[in-house]
Amino acid sequence: MSIERPERYRSFILTGAPGCGKGTQGAILGEIPRFYHFAMGDAFRSLDTRTEIGQEFVKYSSAGQLVPDEVTIRLFLSQLDGRATTHDFKPDIDALVLDGVPRNRKQAELLSEHLDVLHIFHLSCPDRDELITRLRKRALKSGRLDDASEEVIHHRIRTYEAETKELFDYYPDTIRTVINADQPPVKVLHDILNVVVNEQEWQHLTLPV
Ligand code: ADP
Repeated sequence: MSIERPERYRSFILTGAPGCGKGTQGAILGEIPRFYHFAMGDAFRSLDTRTEIGQEFVKYSSAGQLVPDEVTIRLFLSQLDGRATTHDFKPDIDALVLDGVPRNRKQAELLSEHLDVLHIFHLSCPDRDELITRLRKRALKSGRLDDASEEVIHHRIRTYEAETKELFDYYPDTIRTVINADQPPVKVLHDILNVVVNEQEWQHLTLPV
């Protein structure tokens, strides 16, 4: 049986500063049937560092910088295409939970013909000291190079602040909800799900037989 792919992937976007809990929420949501979690940072980290793109990722991420937009979007689309080909991601019935992509206006523009954005969740954690504490803890657990240096952490937070404003301006305000990410993870999840279950587009999605 051949399954038709939709023209644009239905997507929920998670945005938030490094350490705000995007990855935690994305992973939980991705466990729910008909949701597919895609984390751009994980896609980059899974690259073979001997390749050109793997080298580029190491260069930019270790300085706390974003990888250039075209390279990022090319990787994003080819990864999704591969995962759809192996039926891990089922674009006809799954909604994407995008964690860390698109991250700025340019990426949103490059993805406009590929994504049908249902909603954007802004995981807000205005307490920057709290973010830094979380990232330091993560550095101990995950051994991520970009979490280990205070200077790199500060740079990532500044980059995030500059890029996000433009990203928000690109999409209509009506599809964006601010979520208080200073709450315990279960409450953050509750607030996100509260919006998702009321999403009109979502109601008539067919379940597989
Ligand atoms: P965090 O949000 O905690 O900084 P991520 O795992 O999302 O961590 O990203 C790690 C690194 O991967 C970023 O600092 C950047 O170098 C690269 N990266 C991830 N997503 C993108 C993106 N959308 N565009 C460009 N670079 C990205």
